[in-house]
Order: sequence, then C-alpha cells, then structure tokens
Amino acid sequence: MPTLNQTEKQRIAEVLKRRHRALCDEIHSELERSGHQHYADLAGEVADAGDASVADMLVDQDIAIVRRQVEELTQVEAAQQRLMDDDFGTCEDCGADIGLPRLLAVPHATRCIACQEQHEKTYAHEANPKM
Ligand SMILES: [Zn+2]
Repeated sequence: MPTLNQTEKQRIAEVLKRRHRALCDEIHSELERSGHQHYADLAGEVADAGDASVADMLVDQDIAIVRRQVEELTQVEAAQQRLMDDDFGTCEDCGADIGLPRLLAVPHATRCIACQEQHEKTYAHEANPKM
C-alpha cells in the first residue's frame, strides 16, 4: 500500500499544478509562434475554466511540435484526478510504491522505475519491429 500522507500528496499536488501551468504556457507560446493564435485563445479559456478537455481539443490539431506537450498535459491532468485515490503512488504494473522522490520528480508517473524501464524497452521493441 502507498505510504503517502496528506502532506506528501499536497506537495505532489503543488508540483502537478506548477507543471500544468508550465505546459499550458509552453503550448500557448508554441501555438502563438506557429500562428495559431485562435487555438491558443481557445485553449486559454478552457484551461482557465479548469476544464480537462483542452488536451482533447488540441490533440486533434496536427501540430507535431505541441503533441508531446499535450500528451504530458493529459497525463498531468489524469494524475490530478487520481491524486486523492487511495492507490495513488502505486505502480500499475507490479503494485509496489512508486516512492515520493520519484513522484515529486515525475508526478504523473504511473510505474516504478524498474517497470517504467521495462515498459520503455518493450515499447521501443514494438515501435521498431525486426523484419
Ligand atoms: Zn513496478
């Protein structure tokens, strides 16, 4: 079982909030730079309303440069939803505690370091199938 107390969850919530704001800012400036001011305005309104659908909306836009940021934004928003769950901080693969240091560094992590490395190895393998 995760051993996070309310104080620790509060710290993670702060990190998530800062990361969320930073990602929104980055996405806005990328969109502005690429001349998509309209979408930036739209995204700003939705984000200010605290709505999680900003990522859904933007992911449909074929703007490669913001796709990864939007992906992380989605993960950050999902982590904000999960934060108050009893099993937040538990590795989704092996069930071990992810650990506070890792959660403070990567608050949207859903796996412990060992399982994340395994996952990335598997994923890399799938992404580059041997002929
Ligand atoms: Zn694990």
